[in-house]
Amino acid sequence: VVSGVYKLSPVYPFDVEELIEYGDAGKVVGYDEGDLVEKMDVINPLFDYVPADLVDLYITNFCVPKKVTWNAASIAENMHDAKSYGFSFQETAPFDWTTFKHKRDAYVKRLNGIYEKNLKNDKVEYIHGRATFLNKHEVEVKLDDGSKQTIKAKKILIAVGGHPSLPDTPGAELGISSDGFFELEKQPKKVAVVGAGYIAVEMAGMFHALGTETHLFIRHDKFLRTFDPMIQDKVTAEYERQGIHLHKQSSQSKVEDIGNGRKKLYYKDQNGEGSMEIDTLLWAIGRSPEVEDLGLDKTGVHQNDKGHIPVDAYQNTNVDNLYALGDVCDHGFELTPVAIASGRRLADRLFGGQNDAHLEYANIPSVVFAHPEVGSIGLTEPAAREKYGDSVKVYNTEFTAMYYAMMEPEDKGPTAYKLVCEGTNERVVGLHIMGIGSSEMLQGFGVAVKMGATKKDFDSCVAIHPTSSEELVTLK
Ligand code: NDP
Repeated sequence: VVSGVYKLSPVYPFDVEELIEYGDAGKVVGYDEGDLVEKMDVINPLFDYVPADLVDLYITNFCVPKKVTWNAASIAENMHDAKSYGFSFQETAPFDWTTFKHKRDAYVKRLNGIYEKNLKNDKVEYIHGRATFLNKHEVEVKLDDGSKQTIKAKKILIAVGGHPSLPDTPGAELGISSDGFFELEKQPKKVAVVGAGYIAVEMAGMFHALGTETHLFIRHDKFLRTFDPMIQDKVTAEYERQGIHLHKQSSQSKVEDIGNGRKKLYYKDQNGEGSMEIDTLLWAIGRSPEVEDLGLDKTGVHQNDKGHIPVDAYQNTNVDNLYALGDVCDHGFELTPVAIASGRRLADRLFGGQNDAHLEYANIPSVVFAHPEVGSIGLTEPAAREKYGDSVKVYNTEFTAMYYAMMEPEDKGPTAYKLVCEGTNERVVGLHIMGIGSSEMLQGFGVAVKMGATKKDFDSCVAIHPTSSEELVTLK
């Protein structure tokens, strides 16, 4: 039961201050000015109930809508694979991008509503607006209605995140970023994706799996270059094998609007100069901290040359009682769960009496929802060799997952795993996996690596047969 005036959508408001029940048939039971009331309303099934002041609030979120879209792309792949398992159906119904997009929006909106509701339940005063520091103890918040509110606090946490970077290519603004991806109402027939990190690889994979002609522009010969070389080699080769058009050693000189929402991209790649007409151009070349107009100069907080705020292991900035975490800091992990985890530790330290609480920034697992999935924790092989020299021992395997057993060679995807061990007891300092199920597999192995597991510990765990992950405990 949550207080607030509720409405189902901007079109069908109903004023119940305390909601007791909300039924599928549109029956609303609640308290209104102390009276128990029952109301009927017309319900758009896509909208669950959310407090009225949140209906128009749309917090851009990457991970959740991305994963939902990745699920859709995986279903498209599974439908293709189903034939190999004896299913016969015609893939006549194309993917309905627009319906899917609206359902995804509604889901994200509902989730955001829940987060806001939780804040209220925890009696957190939530003020929605854009904040600028006046000095190190005060911020001025420009509220959504244009008015301003000044807030004074003893301790202030800066967790403003970042925004996508754009290159200085003429016409770059004609392209979209990952935010724009989630606003696309129609499925583009042909896209150009520029970038070589998480977002470019995930988005290109999803576009391709859903049937869009996909061109991926990278500056070098491989993508995901911060990952272990095995991942770089295999995923790049697999994208090419699947039919994603890879433009290597590329750069873009100009983008033109050619009408009807279409663009012309001028570029250079391994084959020389070229141009192409596309429906959508997506830039995914990294993100920058969202520090513009934050007024950091009024606080004395230091920033590095890219605008990031340097912090110590406890999220302290150089100014007492000012803290920073998440993508506004330069710790190399622009990951939502990293920001959440460091926020929890900071709260425990400042207000929970846990004086030493802080996030350990080593051995953070992360996954790229590529096609196939990639999971990684710890050091890459080159980084381990640099750190530990000759005491490094590497175990590799490459195989065809059982899922593909029924398929023709051209439909079989790769699976490859690598363990990087160090020292005489072969402590596992890096684990790199790619293949079906890697994203779910990594969390458990992450716990083992975090606990300092050795190769012998891995081997002492009895294999679960038949699975792909059993290969990680039987490596020779
Ligand atoms: P990344 O920092 O991951 O990668 C961007 C890459 O693009 C660079 O490393 C660079 O690779 C390449 N690049 C840079 N400039 C250019 C250019 N002008 N032209 C072509 N390529 C260029 O950034 P993303 O935007 O992909 O993602 C931002 C962050 O969001 C990531 O760091 C990640 O932490 C997070 N994220 C995490 C996800 C997850 O956990 N699954 C999903 C999505 C995002 P190179 O040097 O090889 O050219």
